[in-house]
Amino acid sequence: MSEETIFSKIIRREIPADIVYEDELVTAFRDISHQAPTHVLIIPNKLIPTVNDVTTEDELVLGRLFTVAKKIAKAEGINESGYRLIMNCKDDAGQEVYHIHMHLVGGRKLGRMLAPEVV
Ligand code: 5GP
Repeated sequence: MSEETIFSKIIRREIPADIVYEDELVTAFRDISHQAPTHVLIIPNKLIPTVNDVTTEDELVLGRLFTVAKKIAKAEGINESGYRLIMNCKDDAGQEVYHIHMHLVGGRKLGRMLAPEVV
């Protein structure tokens, strides 16, 4: 069985977080160390450690991440100006929390997706 992370505690309200959305499949809350005016993490309520662990049974919840991202972007007023959705997988991508999460980032010009020097 996969090990729980701090995100499971946030879902269960055992530790505080600024939750902006929740339903039976996903929970969304503001990143504690935000990198832009809007920086929300959208996560499955079910623990899936990394993208490598997703299965066809997860397709409904994975699709929900996108429909919820769209709703939150609109609520934040950044749907027209634009935003970025990011999902890191494992060490080289810098994944810190092993409970998959979609970063929804926007509210400013975000620049290039990867810094030129690291391409
Ligand atoms: P990763 O690097 O795994 O893609 O992103 C993990 C994100 O979770 C980071 O942006 C980090 O700031 C955020 N984070 C880590 N711990 C907490 C926490 O306890 N509460 C909240 N709201 N965000 C967290």
